[in-house]
Amino acid sequence: MVPFIDLTAEYLALKAEIDTAVSRVLAGGWYILGKEVAAFEAEFAAYCGVNHAVGVASGTDALLLALRALDIRTGDEVITVSHTAVATVTAVALSGATPVLVDVEPEYYTLDAAQLAQAITPRTKAIIPVHLYGQPANLETILTVAREHGLYVIEDCAQAHGALYNGQRVGSFGHLAAFSFYPTKNLGAAGDGGAIVTQDEGLAQRLRCLRQYGWQERYISALEGYNSRLDELQAAILRIKLRHLDVANGQRRALAQVYQQQLAGLPLVLPRERPYTEHVYHLYVIQSAVRGELQAHLQANGVGTAVQYPVPIHQQPAYAHLRASLSVTERLAGQILSLPLYPHLPADHLHRVCQTISHWYRSS
Ligand SMILES: *Cc1c(COP(=O)(O)O)cnc(C)c1O
Repeated sequence: MVPFIDLTAEYLALKAEIDTAVSRVLAGGWYILGKEVAAFEAEFAAYCGVNHAVGVASGTDALLLALRALDIRTGDEVITVSHTAVATVTAVALSGATPVLVDVEPEYYTLDAAQLAQAITPRTKAIIPVHLYGQPANLETILTVAREHGLYVIEDCAQAHGALYNGQRVGSFGHLAAFSFYPTKNLGAAGDGGAIVTQDEGLAQRLRCLRQYGWQERYISALEGYNSRLDELQAAILRIKLRHLDVANGQRRALAQVYQQQLAGLPLVLPRERPYTEHVYHLYVIQSAVRGELQAHLQANGVGTAVQYPVPIHQQPAYAHLRASLSVTERLAGQILSLPLYPHLPADHLHRVCQTISHWYRSS
């Protein structure tokens, strides 16, 4: 069997360090917003090359609190993509603003900046580019358009911890950037978690207030806030994994290279890296004109795969009212297939995946 992902392998590789940290937190008797969270926030901000990081309960909350910190609300419009995890759009809807969905570039899977101009209206307040699958979006063009129209940019970095754009970490380009630490992400906790990073001291203060009941001081709510806190256990685990993140991303990139070599020449569209970027392969996504049959064949041969994502958000029941017609997004949803790729993926598993695919194409 070749499972799609194996989170136990990642834990076992760091078991001694993680078990020690977990015991330390449990014995310490302080479980929410303490020393571990403060240390993680400082370390993660430094890693991203920004001044501030604010830990919250999930990536969805990170996006929602980012929108709230910018005072985005009902009547406002926020431009993002339909080809993303549903949480990107959920967060916009929860803020009260209207999500305006645009198409993606077919080769990079990220927001097609050429479509921004038509999507901007007098109500537009922000753009949320998603660095999908670990591939940085076209930040240069997006930031230029945003500057011209006076719009905020919130980067959705939930799939791109550590990715580089022109040598600079994603998350350090927008006014704010949201990260998820859901267990499968490149930097994953043993539960839910998220963070917002920013260079702006005032926004960081507002976010700290929003994540805990709107408190500026204890028991006095200055804003209508939330309960969205990162806990000490998750922060302690994330501090350890952060120290190994660059190595883990390097392993992902090396495995992606092997896929690239072994799958070359087959009638598949393989991932392509945007120039001047470093993709961190949260997912290794190919396109096949016969995706359903290929996936079934892999399944029958014990190879786990996934589709991220099978139904564009504007075609899902909860969001059908957003009405959009996005030809690239709609075509991709029927052709994309994610192959197993995680830092400890054994080499023989990867070869088995490639052999199963190439045998199938040669015999069909
Ligand atoms: C995972 C993810 C989120 C949401 O993160 P959660 O921690 O699950 O709330 C948002 N956007 C993208 C692109 C994601 O992949």
